[in-house]
Amino acid sequence: MSGRRLGVMGGTFDPVHHGHLVAASEVQARFDLDEVIFVPTGRPWQKEHHVVSSPEDRYLMTVIATASNPRFSVSRVDVDRTGPTYTIDTLSDLHRQHPNDQLFFITGADALEQILGWWRADELFELAHFVGVTRPGYQLDDDHLPRGAVSLVDVPAMAISSTDCRERVAKGMPVWYLVPDGVVQYISKRNLYRDPAP
Ligand code: ATP
Ligand code: MG
Repeated sequence: MSGRRLGVMGGTFDPVHHGHLVAASEVQARFDLDEVIFVPTGRPWQKEHHVVSSPEDRYLMTVIATASNPRFSVSRVDVDRTGPTYTIDTLSDLHRQHPNDQLFFITGADALEQILGWWRADELFELAHFVGVTRPGYQLDDDHLPRGAVSLVDVPAMAISSTDCRERVAKGMPVWYLVPDGVVQYISKRNLYRDPAP
């Protein structure tokens, strides 16, 4: 198939939560996307200061969370690449795999803030249209961004972060309804987030 509109939702997904899923679903509908591809990072270069769950665990949680939505899929491009994950590599690989399709990179307000700091930001804008979504606690503005390169979208406010989910599990508090049921069960089965970082 060619000429499709593909969303790309990059993230660490440690764990994937309903904030990620709502953002992807909302942008899928607003931009009439044929598919949203979730792309768990290999080693996230911004997060080298804290312990991140294995790429395989994060990939599997993302598969579990997205399995029931026919428009959602998960890509292994970042998980299978060695070295730290950079968005430019993610988009280049996906562009190579889908040369005739249009890419829409979906990112929360906090991550969008870092776009200008990203290596070769101008090349990113050539590979994909950027969609910045609202996220509680972060300001979304495109003052410093190239005109027309980024669309800003209001999504239902979900005050959920993976950091908060990990801390809740470490403290023995529930994450039911913050993450999909299958992810709650996977976290427990694999005993993730039990040991708080030293
Ligand atoms: P962490 O606390 O570990 O950084 P996180 O909740 O920020 O985790 P990430 O995997 O870092 O999740 O985020 C992936 C993408 O999803 C980023 O673009 C981020 O801005 C966006 N995102 C995460 N949570 C939300 C949310 N609640 N609402 C909207 N966007 C979100
Ligand atoms: Mg984050």
